[in-house]
This record gives sequence, structure tokens and C-alpha cells, in this order.
Amino acid sequence: SDSLNPEVKPRILLMGLRRSGKSSIQKVVFHKMSPSETLFLESTNKICREDVSSSSFVSFQIWDFPGQIDFFDPTFDYEMIFRGTGALIFVIDSQDDYVEAVSRLHLTVTRAYKVNTNINFEVFIHKVDGLSDDHKIQKQRDIHRRANDDLVDAGLQSINLSFYLTSIYDHSIFEAFSKVVQKLIPQLPTLENLLNIFISNSCIEKAFLFDVLSKIYIATDSSPVDMSTYELCCDMIDVVIDISCIYGPADTGSDLPYDKESMAIIHLNNTTVIYLKEVTEFLAVVCFLRTESFERKGLIDYNFHCFKSAIQEVFDVRLRIQKNRKLLSQR
Ligand code: GDP
Repeated sequence: SDSLNPEVKPRILLMGLRRSGKSSIQKVVFHKMSPSETLFLESTNKICREDVSSSSFVSFQIWDFPGQIDFFDPTFDYEMIFRGTGALIFVIDSQDDYVEAVSRLHLTVTRAYKVNTNINFEVFIHKVDGLSDDHKIQKQRDIHRRANDDLVDAGLQSINLSFYLTSIYDHSIFEAFSKVVQKLIPQLPTLENLLNIFISNSCIEKAFLFDVLSKIYIATDSSPVDMSTYELCCDMIDVVIDISCIYGPADTGSDLPYDKESMAIIHLNNTTVIYLKEVTEFLAVVCFLRTESFERKGLIDYNFHCFKSAIQEVFDVRLRIQKNRKLLSQR
């Protein structure tokens, strides 16, 4: 299905000083690299590392600041890139001196804002593994204060920065990415509503709509998110994809061994069932439910069928609107 073609994908730009951790984040989130392998990532000298993930709901690009990115360089069309960007993630290495990074952040944000006032500015205070909780809060406060002071001094207090504490060594990077992506999905309230209806009609406790490749959840029902539940869902996706890679059909014509038939059921010993089912080319639903509720699997599958059609309609409608707009603008 082309219902999630690149035009409707949330576009994200990942920026920051060299060695702040951008390639590691990309490799861990979008390429299933294990965090310890990132120690051996080679530094590149390219300013822009293109990566439009073809088998993910999200598309994104990395920009480095080797020290002297030149916003005035006429061969570097940053205006065009900022115009097409939904979120700009700026990565700051919390284990390093961050004065230079904060001033780069300021320069970048003010440049980007001039081109596109609708960009979401997301600051990842990164590599916080190894810091104590007190230390983390302290760093976040300090970076927050410095960055906002710079904006106030420039008369740009209307710019809103969001901050996240992240590390590739735990699920915080996936959670932060999930929040960044969710802000870019105009259909989010509809998706949440559909999930709410689906779970209440099926006696499911919790359901996540996942981008399978990246394990970013793009929506969930409105009950609170418990981190350990989210982590279990991530682990389940890993298991399903790993097993499919090893034992699945050799060529599915896509980067992921994942298709319309994909589904999995895991019974946990504590009377809980985790149920995964394909929704679209990139998305799957992962549900948490009690064993008793799972006895009515027929009902769940029927409700799921209705849910899936509704989701496809949500994305198809948006695609049609975009196509029409394009046609109109070409006249
Ligand atoms: P880039 O130049 O911004 O792309 O940075 P890299 O991705 O090459 O990362 C630089 C170094 O930081 C590598 O040695 C990574 O292993 C390390 N790194 C990246 N993320 C983390 C993290 O969350 N925690 C820790 N402790 N190290 C990290």
C-alpha cells in the first residue's frame, strides 16, 4: 500500500556537535545496532548524512556541526531543508562541556525559526547514562536556563524548546523519539480515539501503535504509559523480527521481514498475554491483555479488523487531501 508514502511521513532533522551521539542514535533506533557497537562508529566529514528510512513511518536526516557549518554557504540550501522539516532534534553531549553546544543550539534554532516558525525544537540532553538522578536534573536545569536566556537576550522568547534526557543504553532514546514523532502526527487524537474504542470493546488493558522498524510508538490509548510495559512491547517486536529474519520467507521485497500476515502471541507466566498484529506496511499494534480476556480472541480479531480499516482510512484520507492540494497548486 502507498498510504504512507514519503510525502506524509514526519520529517526529522538530527543536529548537534560532532561526537554528540547522532550517528549512534540513528544506528540504534533505526538500524537495530546494539549500543556497545557504536563505540566503533567511524567519524565522517560530511555535513549532511542523508537517511530517508524507506521502511519506517519516519523519515529523517542528520546534520553535523564539525565546528564551522556555514549558513551563508550558497551551495548549502539549508532554507529548503528547514522548510520541509517538522522537528529539529539538537543533541547535546551531557558528559562533555556543553557551552559550545548551547551556543550552536542558539544559532541553529534562530536560523531555522526565521525560515520556518512551525518547526518543533527538541533538545536531547544525551549520554545521561552514568549520571545520578540529581546530576541529570541539574544538567537539564542548567542547559534549559542557558538556552532560554540566550533566546530572551535575542528577543525570541516566543520560541519554545522541549528537553529530554536520553541515552542509547536504555529505552529513554526510544521514548523521546516517540514523543517527538507524536507531535508531528496531525491525526494523533483520531488514532488515540480509535485505540480507546478498540481496547474497551475487546477488554484489552493497553495497546500501542508501533513503527515496527524503529520501535517508536506513534500512538497509544489514553491510559498512562508504564515504562516496563513499553519495554516488554519493544522486546516482543525484537523477538518477532529476529525470528522472522532467521526463519521467515527469504525475500519479502522489503527491508523488514514483516508483512500483512505478521502476527505473534506471547503468553507471560503472570496471566498476561501480549498480542502483536500488522496494521499497515510500517505499523503494528501491540496489545496487553489478561488471559481470560484472550479467551474471546474471535471478538478481539473482529474488533481489530474494524480498527485496522479505520486506521487505513485515516491515512488514506490524508494522502488524498495532499494529492488534491498538489493538483490544485499545479494549476
Ligand atoms: P556523532 O558524531 O554525533 O554522530 O557521534 P557518534 O554517534 O559517532 O558518537 C560518538 C561517541 O559517543 C561514540 O563513541 C558513541 O559510542 C558514544 N555515545 C553515543 N550515544 C551515547 C550514549 O547514550 N551514552 C554514552 N555513554 N555514549 C554514547
